[in-house]
Amino acid sequence: MPQILSSSILRIDLDAIRANYRTIADRVAPACAGAVVKANGYGLGAERVAAALYREGCRAFFVARLVEADTLRAVLDADADIFVLNGLDPGAEPRCAGAGHIPVFNSSSQVAAWRGLAVARGVALPAALQLDSGMSRLGLPLAEAERLARDPAFAREVDLRLVTSHLACGDEPDHPANAAQLAAFAAGRALFPGVPASLANSGGSFLPEDFHGDIVRPGVALFGVDPGPAATGLRPVAALHARILQIREVAAGTGVGYGLDHVASDRQRLATIGIGYADGWPRNLGGVGRAWWNGVPLPIIGRVSMDSLTIDISDPRAAALAEGDLVELIGPSQSLADVARDAGTIPYEILTRLGARHARIFVEAGQSLDVGDRA
Ligand SMILES: *Cc1c(COP(=O)(O)O)cnc(C)c1O
Repeated sequence: MPQILSSSILRIDLDAIRANYRTIADRVAPACAGAVVKANGYGLGAERVAAALYREGCRAFFVARLVEADTLRAVLDADADIFVLNGLDPGAEPRCAGAGHIPVFNSSSQVAAWRGLAVARGVALPAALQLDSGMSRLGLPLAEAERLARDPAFAREVDLRLVTSHLACGDEPDHPANAAQLAAFAAGRALFPGVPASLANSGGSFLPEDFHGDIVRPGVALFGVDPGPAATGLRPVAALHARILQIREVAAGTGVGYGLDHVASDRQRLATIGIGYADGWPRNLGGVGRAWWNGVPLPIIGRVSMDSLTIDISDPRAAALAEGDLVELIGPSQSLADVARDAGTIPYEILTRLGARHARIFVEAGQSLDVGDRA
């Protein structure tokens, strides 16, 4: 086993991602399942994640930005569609068309720019339309979609591949907005008969069948996060460990860390570990959160620094801990949801902030595929 020379290690279980994809795909069949891998695959590594999902049969990938689509194209075969959810920045149309990505248009001006390029080239260009069915974030109002649907030139200029919308409350199964959005989306998709339709994110994938349309767009559920209140049997994907840089014993009255915010009330054994807010570990977990070792909680004391934080390892069950050992931050003792709850945020934000400094280990078919920084 090579030794990993990094003070923090992020382990990404691609087998679990594939199993989660399969769980969702089986659940929504005969609808099919795409995958949302924006923001670098929710922080875990878009290329590895997308390639694993492709091997599991996924052929529709959704990212937010054009540059993210370029990254995926390099690792996916040509039969995979890559949708750019945020549409295109003005002027990016030729680059998108050249790369063969499918932009998802949210406004009439975005559509007009695409049609201009299609006319100039004398070909229909592939695109998707997002309709606003009630979230008021992105998407064409239904009246504008209706105007496009009635315009015969639109059908000549745009090869419409997908009609989409997005649920504001898909993670709350009983929220009345879900039925309202479903009804609005049904009216919108009816404007474009024969074009595949997509409404459901992770939460929507676990709503009743009529929410699934032709293709669902799960993101966070692929990464093992239950999208709603119910347990779904999804497997955890990410594990995070950090290394002890230094151990010290302090006497009662000793201040610890920036601002000396923590003052030892008694003799304490402390360990400083090599992870901080620059690694996406939330600064507001200072004095609140904990690391774990063999099921023993190790409270974070004082402020979280940029590159390190200090934990209390006075618990006698942690007596064996030594400099160089790894402690758990996300894993069997502390789920992503636990960390998010303690930090007052959602698992999405914890994942996507994890940052670039961790050594990453990708596990697929039981094998470690890649290890950053190793001896
Ligand atoms: C991010 C996003 C998704 C995926 O959402 P999850 O809640 O992570 O499943 C799906 N569709 C759109 C338009 C999105 O922006």
